[in-house]
Amino acid sequence: MKIFVASLATETNTFSPMPTDRKAFEEGFYAPAGQHPEEPSLFSGPLAAARRQAKAGNWEVVQGLHTFAMPAGRTVKSVYEGFRDQILSELKRAMPVDMVALGLHGAMAAEGYDDCEGDLLRRVRQIVGPKVPIGAELDPHCHLSETMTSQAEAIICFKEYPHTDFLERGKELVNIIADAARGKVRPVMSVFDCRMVQFLRTTAEPMRSFVQHIKSLEGKNGVLSVSVAHCFPYGDVADIGTKVLVITDDRKDYGDKLAAELGMQLFELRKRLSPKLLSIDQALKHALAAKKRPVVIAEPADNAGGGAPGDSTFFLKAMLKRKMREAAFGPIWDPIAVKLCFAAGIGASLDLRFGGKMGPTSGDPIDAKVSVIGLRRNARQTFGDTTFELGDTAGIRVGGIEVPLITERCQGLGLDLFTNVGIDPKAKRVVVVKSTNHFHAAFGPIAGEVIYSDGPGALAGDFRRIPFTKIRRPKWPFDADPFGQKAKQAQPNRTAAQKTKSKSAKARAPKAKQ
Ligand SMILES: [Zn+2]
Repeated sequence: MKIFVASLATETNTFSPMPTDRKAFEEGFYAPAGQHPEEPSLFSGPLAAARRQAKAGNWEVVQGLHTFAMPAGRTVKSVYEGFRDQILSELKRAMPVDMVALGLHGAMAAEGYDDCEGDLLRRVRQIVGPKVPIGAELDPHCHLSETMTSQAEAIICFKEYPHTDFLERGKELVNIIADAARGKVRPVMSVFDCRMVQFLRTTAEPMRSFVQHIKSLEGKNGVLSVSVAHCFPYGDVADIGTKVLVITDDRKDYGDKLAAELGMQLFELRKRLSPKLLSIDQALKHALAAKKRPVVIAEPADNAGGGAPGDSTFFLKAMLKRKMREAAFGPIWDPIAVKLCFAAGIGASLDLRFGGKMGPTSGDPIDAKVSVIGLRRNARQTFGDTTFELGDTAGIRVGGIEVPLITERCQGLGLDLFTNVGIDPKAKRVVVVKSTNHFHAAFGPIAGEVIYSDGPGALAGDFRRIPFTKIRRPKWPFDADPFGQKAKQAQPNRTAAQKTKSKSAKARAPKAKQ
């Protein structure tokens, strides 16, 4: 068995003013064909699985390009086309192959391409022909399109958000397409559109139980896999929206039915899927009154992982105004301020301008006397089985608050974001992390309590404030009743009323006879 594996991934915030260029991929993660390190990256789940098979002596693995960029604006056209064509030419050289497995995101958009993954899968199909199974592992924040599902045999999304299960899902995907290549199964995909745009945090109920439920359905009744494509709320593309994807072994009707059932269950949960979002002041007030420490507060509005700059100062300014102590806040992306801190050295005290540089959604910079408490070259932070680059990092203390300033734009993921530069988040009263939910994997376990804020920033917490132009309606929360359930409920009532009417008419009829 010969498998071709490659990966091209980024999550595109089409509203972000920062173009995603070649450098963004090189700085994010970049492994040319045959050069992927042993440590898995978030989108190399299929490669890790294929490598295990190769080690056992079962398979020949042809490893193509693997690269991903930190989410930002649309990928530059020539950059997308260049990487795509590179992967396609590597695949052509590898032919004939028995199967293809790709590590993709599913919400990548480039100039001129709203559905990069659909485009790539279609071209892969043209090369391998109709008989070679193609599989793709996607991030659940994907815009699952018909092009994607029509061109692949199997698509599996990470089930967890935080995405700590990318290795397991990659293994499942590779097993399914290998079974398909051997003729053991015939995977067919069924998709149900839940007609909503929503964040689905699997760390809390009711999503926690929903994930357990879909897992319990796999391996029974011909169900090979069940995924939820959450969607990415900051992508202005036609395919945006939450979808349920079921793969069965040639049981299309059953798969359709199950996808619709699960999709409607998820839709019914829609109002309970979002945590309560507190204003900055409410969040700080709550944290200061809390007994269990540390209180970990998420700041999703400036999550670099969703394409925000990661240098906004609104929250930190509110903390400084309150003269908070025993607090940590981070990260703030500011390569220039980092350089100045390195120049000053550990223990130095300096007047520093930092943060608030990228635009109005970042607020104004902070000018303050700070002390440099820690410096680390080429720092990384841990996320599940992988690590992310932070670049040169400086820990500063401003008032009673300790802040890591970073060089490579990234959201807050691991405790080492802070400990790298001598800040101990466990010893704090309040820890604020710029992240939507990925922080939860590391910070959830140390937190006395986790709360979520919604302040100013690039990522609006209320999706109705996002200026979409391509979204297909109706969809919740933009439309209150996208499935027309109220109209349907009204319909049976009318029918019932009509029935009663005709019944009484019938009842009257004999009377009339009498
Ligand atoms: Zn994601």
